[in-house]
Amino acid sequence: MRLETLAVHAGRRVDPATGAVTMPIHPSTTFERDPDGSYPRGFLYARNSNPTRAALEACMRDLEGGADATAFGSASAATAAVLLSLAPGDHVVAPTDAYHGTLRLLRETFATWGLETTFVDMTDASAVERALRPATKLVWIETPSNPLWKIVDVARVAAIARDAGARSLCDNTVATPVLQRPFDLGADLVLHATTKYLGGHGDVLGGVVVTRADDDFWQRVRRAQATAGGVPSPFDCWLVLRGIQTLPWRVRAQSAHALRLAEVLAGHPRVEAVHYPGLPASPAHDVARRQMRAFGGMLSFEVRGGRDAAMAVAAKVRLFTRATSFGGTESLIEHRASIEGAGSRTPESLLRVSVGLEHPDDLIEDLGQALTV
Ligand SMILES: *Cc1c(COP(=O)(O)O)cnc(C)c1O
Repeated sequence: MRLETLAVHAGRRVDPATGAVTMPIHPSTTFERDPDGSYPRGFLYARNSNPTRAALEACMRDLEGGADATAFGSASAATAAVLLSLAPGDHVVAPTDAYHGTLRLLRETFATWGLETTFVDMTDASAVERALRPATKLVWIETPSNPLWKIVDVARVAAIARDAGARSLCDNTVATPVLQRPFDLGADLVLHATTKYLGGHGDVLGGVVVTRADDDFWQRVRRAQATAGGVPSPFDCWLVLRGIQTLPWRVRAQSAHALRLAEVLAGHPRVEAVHYPGLPASPAHDVARRQMRAFGGMLSFEVRGGRDAAMAVAAKVRLFTRATSFGGTESLIEHRASIEGAGSRTPESLLRVSVGLEHPDDLIEDLGQALTV
């Protein structure tokens, strides 16, 4: 089946008990045993599994074309479960510009726990090769990366990991399964913040890990989900499932509108630089064209005049909301360096934009008036 059809149907069916067309939410924490002590319906206790979460996991497995999926209460909990499935002494290679929460988990929480990480510029595949060690067990990929939307060649880096006997994981949050197919490119695991495009309405936090193969490592991830317990509520799973139904159409519109904004901004005299892989002038364009179906709904631009000029533009917008996060229906703008705080490598002149579902001409007019001195 094609992606649009999977987005509407995967993991879901008409409720056999009631005929309800929209999937019910199952809040029950516990499930009945048969007189012989068995659980013939497969559910025992909601931290281990529950029907609403199982539906979301089946949907995500099918959307990415994997063998299985696990859902979490946030992508950070999903990341922690993957890292918990490694062992102290193992080595990880990760991009210097991974999501800042991922960097924190690796640098702080899991460094103390005994995991060693080498951070590299992953747009340079040879840097990944140089970082490998005999103990390297995981190569963490995130592409497009935030907030410069750099592109990692997933096929190349996944092959390097495989040759070294390590797994590769691709954080596919920004691209979504609509634009990028990490399993087709050779990745072993895919991670999503469903908080962003999959949920799609800015009203639910969640994370998912999908695996290409149901192997020993995957069983450790499943156990980490059940034992560490960073699981999503049934209502949150239902909200993500509801969001996914419109995912392909939202992401396509958001990508088309982001490209228009990027083109307009690139020609604006007050804009110093536009970071968007869809612009032919972008250093990321060639790899992005090869591995993505469109270039996504996220872009950044730098305002001439540095921090104060950028803050003044963000202060003047009327239609965009000044807020962090992305992937919802309303367009957001943020001064990224101040969100990331101390240690941020993001230029002070940079504003990050999440393109929503408003008419692009209204967005262009709003940025135009905000950029007028
Ligand atoms: C937001 C985000 C995360 C973390 O998601 P949470 O649900 O907030 O934990 C991880 N990776 C990427 C690329 C993200 O954008």
